[in-house]
Amino acid sequence: MTFSTTLSQPHKLILDGATGTELNRRGVDTGLPLWSANALMNDRDARILQQIHEDYLRAGADIITTNTFRTHRRALAPRPNADRALELTRRAVDIVRAAIAKIPSDKERFVAGSISTLEDCYRPDLVPPDDELRAEHSERIHHLLECGVDLILIETINTIREAVIMEELATITSMPVVVSFVCDREGKILSGETLTDAASQLLPLGICAIGVNCGPTPNLAKPLAELQAACGKDFPLIAYGNIGYADEKVGWVNTDLENPKAYCELASYWPAKIVGGCCGTTPEHIAQLKLVIK
Ligand SMILES: [Zn+2]
Repeated sequence: MTFSTTLSQPHKLILDGATGTELNRRGVDTGLPLWSANALMNDRDARILQQIHEDYLRAGADIITTNTFRTHRRALAPRPNADRALELTRRAVDIVRAAIAKIPSDKERFVAGSISTLEDCYRPDLVPPDDELRAEHSERIHHLLECGVDLILIETINTIREAVIMEELATITSMPVVVSFVCDREGKILSGETLTDAASQLLPLGICAIGVNCGPTPNLAKPLAELQAACGKDFPLIAYGNIGYADEKVGWVNTDLENPKAYCELASYWPAKIVGGCCGTTPEHIAQLKLVIK
C-alpha cells in the first residue's frame, strides 16, 4: 500500500521521535553546523543512528524520518564535504531501510525523506533569495528521490515563501509531500505569517498533509485548531512537538519537561492524522503514543 492510500485509512499514523537530540543523548557529537549529519561521518555513530531508528520501530512508529536534515550542500560546506551531499543522503536513507529490515512487522512502514530550511530553521530573517532556494532545494529533493524514500517531509519551515518553493519542487517528483511549520507562542509561523495563509497557498499545490512541529508541546493545540479550520476537518494534519529548547552553541538542550505520559496526554487532543515527536522526544514517548493514539 502506498503512503497516500495508507493516509486515507481511518487510523492515525505514528511518526518517529527525535533523531538529532537522541544521537546526542547516546553520546554522538551533534555540534553545529553539521548537527545530526555528524552521525553519518563514521561507522560507530552510524550504528548508533540505526539503533535509534530500530528503537522507534519497536516503539510502534509507522513512519521513520531519514537523518537528512543537514546533509545538503550548504550545511556541509566548505568542501570537500559539500560534494558529499548525495553520498551522505544515501547513507542516511540506507540506514533507515536497514533498520526496517531488521525489525519485522506485519504493517507497512514508510521512509520519510526529511528536508528543512536551507539556513537556520529558527531564523526566518536568514531565508535566502528565491533563485538560491530553487537551485539548492531542487538538488536535495532529487537526492532523496534517487535514494528511494516513500515521501518527502518538508519540516520545521519558518516562512511561506520557502515552503511554497520546496513544495513546488517536491510535487514535480510525484512523491507524496507533507509540509510542517515551526510557530511562535501565538501560533503564527516564525515569519509572523499565519497558518491560514500558508494553507491557502499550499493546499492547491497538492500536499497530502500540513501541520506544525518543533514548538513547545503545550503550544501546538492552537495552531492545529487554526489549520483544521483553514483546511477542513477531513484534511490530514501532522503534529510533533519538542521538549527542551534550542541553543546556538550545542544545538539543543534537553529539559525532559514533558515525560512520555505528559507528552501523550497533550498529543491525544491534537486533531492530527500523523502524530510523532520532535527534538527532545525519545522512543519511550513514541511507545506511549502507540498506547494512546488510535
Ligand atoms: Zn525539532
